[in-house]
Amino acid sequence: MLDIRIEKTTNPKQLPAADNPLRFGTIFTDHMFIMNYETGKGWHDARIVPYQPVVLDPSAMVFHYGQEMFEGLKAYKAADGRVLLFRPDMNAKRTNHTNSRLCIPEIAEEDFVDAVKAIVKVDEKWIPTKPDTSLYIRPFIIATDPFLGVRPSDTYQFIIILSPVGPYYPEGLDPVKIWIEDDYVRAIRGGIGEAKTGGNYVASMAAQLKAHEEGYSQVLWLDGVERKYIEEVGAMNIFFKINGTVVTPMLNGSILPGITRDSVIALCKEWGIPVEERKVSVDELYEAAKDGSMEEVFGTGTAAVVSPVSHLRFKDHVLKVKDGGIGALSQKLYDTVSGLQRGQIVDTRGWVVEVK
Ligand SMILES: *Cc1c(COP(=O)(O)O)cnc(C)c1O
Repeated sequence: MLDIRIEKTTNPKQLPAADNPLRFGTIFTDHMFIMNYETGKGWHDARIVPYQPVVLDPSAMVFHYGQEMFEGLKAYKAADGRVLLFRPDMNAKRTNHTNSRLCIPEIAEEDFVDAVKAIVKVDEKWIPTKPDTSLYIRPFIIATDPFLGVRPSDTYQFIIILSPVGPYYPEGLDPVKIWIEDDYVRAIRGGIGEAKTGGNYVASMAAQLKAHEEGYSQVLWLDGVERKYIEEVGAMNIFFKINGTVVTPMLNGSILPGITRDSVIALCKEWGIPVEERKVSVDELYEAAKDGSMEEVFGTGTAAVVSPVSHLRFKDHVLKVKDGGIGALSQKLYDTVSGLQRGQIVDTRGWVVEVK
């Protein structure tokens, strides 16, 4: 059990008003978790303190060479008052996978989960209760050595902040239009694509702006070498239902291994739907859209859970997915995963963890 010192705020903020839309990532709770790392000493001084600025030396390595990682998960308030997390052990495992790629020291999985539970418990009253709302949890690690040389830092801070968030789809599932990017690339095999780190996001921004200007909400990335195979959407993994089979790009080193992706694959298999994790080319999507075998397209990620896709644009071509509506499988996956997360469906897989 991680030993955590707790210093409560003497000046609590006002909770958001009932009609506040809780726009993603704009409101933060009263407290934060921090733990320090120093070579030779390991992770130490775990504490929960009032939410406050982080004071760093301007030469801190994170500012110059991007040695940082982050995670994202949510806490949900069930109708019976229980506070639930969804597969937080997977976030702990992925943290260490990211850390090993970025030369950041490992954190014991139990300590990661203990820290998440502890901060959620302290700020439990910030978990919104309206339908489809949740408390977004953002753990992250930054390199803090005051040094301009290029090498892994000897000191780090692991911080967790919390943010109440409203429904991703205020009016129910709403299909999105997606831009297949053929100029910029996000990641290549051997790079940092499978690590959850800011570098992948800054690499994606120029294409995101371009897509927005054209009226598309998200970018779908192609492989960085042949620019031929589908990888993922900026912060979501991507699935296609073609001729009754669910197809998703295999994890190849440049795709982020989503926990929602893993859950969706497991559910489809349980339901007897064939699932293929393999290379998916743009040409195959053209064919499937043309001959009518493309039944559904959807993205998966913690923020939206399942995000149906109505249009895919590649160069000058627009591929329309069926009637542009919400596929039956997309809806069923959304209802099942969000039902499990919120305690409306009984968990038989050990995915739901209660914060006590
Ligand atoms: C976090 C993330 C995802 C989705 O992962 P989940 O664990 O399902 O939330 C997908 N792609 C990228 C690039 C991500 O950073």
